[in-house]
Parts: sequence; C-alpha cells; structure tokens
Amino acid sequence: MVTPEPRLVLVLGDQLSHDVAALRNADPARDIIVMAEVMAEATYAPHHPKKIAFVLAAMRKFAAELRGRGWRVAYTALDDPQNAGSIRAELLRRAHQHGAQDVIATQPGEWRLIAELDAVPLTLLQLPDDRFICSQGWFARWAKGRKVRRMEHFYREMRRATGLLMDGDAPAGGKWNYDHENRKPARAEMLRAGPLRTEPDAVTAAVLDLVEARFGTRFGRLRPFHFATDRAGALRALEHFITHALPDFGTYQDAMLSQDRYLNHAVIGLYLNFGLLDSMEVCHRVAAAWRDGHAPINAAEGFIRQIIGWREFVRATYFQEGPSYTARNTLAHDRDLPPLYWGAPTRMNCLSHVVEQTRDEAYAHHIQRLMVTGNFALLAGVAPQQVHEWYLSVYADAVEWVEAPNTLGMSQFADGGLIASKPYVSGGAYINRMSDYCARCHYRVKDRTGPRACPFNQLYWHFLTRHRTRFEHNPRMSRIYRNWDGMEPAHRETVLGEAEGFLARLDAGAAV
Ligand SMILES: Cc1cc2nc3c(=O)[nH]c(=O)nc-3n(C[C@H](O)[C@H](O)[C@H](O)COP(=O)(O)OP(=O)(O)OC[C@H]3O[C@@H](n4cnc5c(N)ncnc54)[C@H](O)[C@@H]3O)c2cc1C
Ligand code: SF4
Repeated sequence: MVTPEPRLVLVLGDQLSHDVAALRNADPARDIIVMAEVMAEATYAPHHPKKIAFVLAAMRKFAAELRGRGWRVAYTALDDPQNAGSIRAELLRRAHQHGAQDVIATQPGEWRLIAELDAVPLTLLQLPDDRFICSQGWFARWAKGRKVRRMEHFYREMRRATGLLMDGDAPAGGKWNYDHENRKPARAEMLRAGPLRTEPDAVTAAVLDLVEARFGTRFGRLRPFHFATDRAGALRALEHFITHALPDFGTYQDAMLSQDRYLNHAVIGLYLNFGLLDSMEVCHRVAAAWRDGHAPINAAEGFIRQIIGWREFVRATYFQEGPSYTARNTLAHDRDLPPLYWGAPTRMNCLSHVVEQTRDEAYAHHIQRLMVTGNFALLAGVAPQQVHEWYLSVYADAVEWVEAPNTLGMSQFADGGLIASKPYVSGGAYINRMSDYCARCHYRVKDRTGPRACPFNQLYWHFLTRHRTRFEHNPRMSRIYRNWDGMEPAHRETVLGEAEGFLARLDAGAAV
C-alpha cells in the first residue's frame, strides 16, 4: 500500500486548544504539526516581554502535550539556527523537509496573517475557527438590514442560543441585564485575593531567559512572571477567580484602586484568547456557581455578558468589517501618541498609575483601559492607529480580533459608532467617583480652570466642541451640549483656551 504524503498542520500561538479545527481535521498517523516561534510575530508590534514569554512558554507546553497524545510535532524554537523567521518561511522549510504539499490551518484571528497564509505557495486550507459561539455567517445574517448593531440585542440572541442563564425562553431572574446593581466604587480596606500567581517551572524559566536576552529593553517588566502557561494552570486560575472574586465581580466591575491592580477581575483574557480555556466551559462554570448559591445573579450575568456578549460581538464585527477596519479614523484624529504612554513622567496620577501597572503586569482592567488611557487619547485627539498599536503591544491578552474593535471602536469611536452608541468620554469627575487616584494627584479634580485644573475637565469640553456637529443630535448627548451652552461665555472661552494650552504643551513634549 502506498503511504499518503504527509500534510502539515499549522498550529499558531493563539490556537493552543486540542480541539481546534485544524487538529480535528488531521490524522496523527499521517500528518505533521508545525509550530514555530518566529521573529516576525514577535516584532510586527513592540509586544510586552511578558506577553511574548507567555505565548512562547504556552506553545512549548502545548507541543509537549501534543507529542504526549501521539502527534509528530515539528517545533522551531526562536533561537534555533534553522529558524526561517516567519510563519510563511517556516511552512515552506517544513514542506521541503517532509516532502509535503498540503497544509491544514485554522483561520488566524488577524487579517494580516490570513493574507500571509493565502500567499503561501502550497495547497493551504484555512478552516473557520469554530471555538466561538457566533459564526461569521450567522452574524452577517443578523446584521443584514439593521441600521444599528447593538451589543445588547446581539447578547440576548447569544443567551437564547447557548441557554446560559435561561429559564425556558425567559432570562433567569426575570431580567436580561443586572448592570444597575453593578459599578460601585470599591473600598480600599477590603481585602481581595487577587489572581492566582503561578511560579515559573523549568520550561517557563528558560523562556524568560530567552525573552530577557532578546526583548529585555522593550517597554514592560518581564519579572516577576506569574501567568499560568498551560491548560491545567489556566483552569486553576479560573477556579481561584470563581472562589474568591466572582461573587463581587459585578459590584466592583468599574472600580479602580491604587493599591489593588486587579480588584474582582478574572485575569483570564489571555487564557481564553490563546486557547488554554474555552469560553463556554468558563460560562458554564460561572452559571453553576450562581445556581449553587455561591455568586449572585448580577455577578454571574455581568460576567457571562462580557464573554458571550462583548467578546463574541467584537470578534464578529472585526471579521464582518474586513481588513480595512483597522485603518478607520472617523473623527480624523492625528496627534502622536504622547510619550507618557511609554512611561515618560506625567503629573496626571490616573495615567501615571495605569501606565505603570501596564508596564509591570501587561494587564489593566477594562475601565482602566477605557476610561483612563483610552479616554485621554480620545479627548486629546490621538491618531487611532497609534492608540491601536499601543494596546495591541502592551497587554498580554491582546490579539487583534478582540483588541482592534475595543480600541478603535469602543474606545476611540474611530469606526463611527459601529461598536459604541456614543463616545466613551468623561471629565475627571467620573475617574474620581470610581477610583482613589485623584486624591494623590498634582491636579485638582474639582477645578475646571486654572493651572491645577484637571486636564480631563478641559479636554472633555474641547472634544465635545470640536465634534459638535457629529454629536449634538445624539439623543444620549444633547443634554450635555445644553449644559455647556448654559455656562457663561467667558468661562467657556477660558476652558477651551486652557485646553489648547495643554495640548500645545503635550505636543511640545513637556511633562503634563
Ligand atoms: C481599549 C481597550 C482595549 C482592549 N483590548 C483587549 C484585548 O486586547 N484583548 C482582550 O481580551 N480584551 C481587550 N479589551 C477588553 C477588556 O478590557 C479585557 O478583556 C479585560 O480587561 C481582560 O481582563 P480580565 O480577564 O480580568 O477580564 P474580566 O473583567 O474579568 O472579564 C472577563 C472576560 O470577559 C471578556 N471581556 C470583558 N470585556 C470584554 C470586551 N470589551 N471585549 C471582549 N471581551 C471582553 C474577556 O474575555 C475577559 O477575560 C480591551 C478593552 C479596551 C477598552
Ligand atoms: S485629578 Fe484628573 S488627572 Fe488627576 S487623577 Fe484625577 S482625573 Fe486624573
């Protein structure tokens, strides 16, 4: 009998799931899995060293698991002298080495890589990545004919489709959304366990040394490193979150505290996005915690909404909108990203705090990303593509399909309102209500004018004035414009003039 020629099975760094489509469609007796740590992927954006270390360690452990299950794995380490440097070049090298012509891949989560695979001169099949609840086809049908696509409507469909927190056709507890019970400020004296800290084992320790040598000068602290890097560790991190933090997840979802970088957040985004955890297993576990009386409905519903609602919605939007999505700039913002995002000193305590935490942890929670760093970039009119590159680089959970719609759509309104119904902007009062940052700031959050006035207060009105024609008829914003119009003309002029002065100092590279 003639042995069929082997096929290559490509497993990318964010496809570390044993039931990913390419693996399901391959044959361990015939096929060879290709996994490669390549410089092209580590350098197309200046990724945080912790993020690179997490991905490489997780890839190495996944390859070992595959071998343990009987697969042949052609694995290329970053420092292998034969390393061809890119996914495309590694596929060609392995095809030549094994006499293979056919490649089975799972579609990457980024248009850039989809195009790279399309251009590989082999017979390459990209299978849909079906680790998600909502398929591209389903979303296209749902979106068709809708003037606006709102996450809340989409989310209800996902609840019905999955049966999560449902009593027959009705939402458990009688309501779809319990957000009015959420979003309270947090008290500093409440002790929280924080995420599970996993000590690096020998595989991770070797990766840390490699990453230190190659990427140690980049923005971001590599050590201490406490992320889990395999499925067993990710499952332990999930259980730790459910036991210690889930019950108050909803209540303190939007709170920020100087001394607590995690509050009740799960810190599992990276495990979900790189394939160590499955979104439905996580949601079922959270729903079970509610059914068992361990977590209240506002926590379970709020958490599940983030995953089957927001996470699925942003992914579907990314693929529905096509490769040009990341180039959008509806508000025509063109300021350079200020150096403070890369750690240059600033007297704005909220920004200083979130950037420092980002540098240390490769993590900030949603409200820090949206209402501190994102809010400031939007108010200051920073070019959204520069903001996008920053978020894609600095967070360990950043993969383009989830990062880009969150940054360009939700945070920077660069897609003109596809993701968000209005821009997420605020003055200092919001940050003051939800955090303890303002108490230790050089600026005074209650001042609207003067040398110590909180810059958010002035930039807020500057932004709204710049974009008045676009937003004044938005039903959720017209009242804000009426408030502005009711202020003394001289006061309005001072606020706008001081905002201009602030932006000029920012452009001149002064520490603001
Ligand atoms: C500007 C900006 C950039 C972002 N970039 C990313 C990114 O690169 N990768 C990423 O996974 N998330 C991103 N988010 C969404 C969110 O901030 C992170 O998912 C969350 O902070 C991850 O931390 P956690 O696991 O502790 O989440 P938790 O707050 O504990 O939430 C649980 C899970 O819900 C999901 N989730 C929550 N909010 C969102 C959301 N808006 N979109 C998609 N999933 C969500 C995540 O999988 C998360 O792990 C971004 C948000 C903003 C505003
Ligand atoms: S006063 Fe303004 S700049 Fe300072 S921490 Fe508060 S919101 Fe940030």
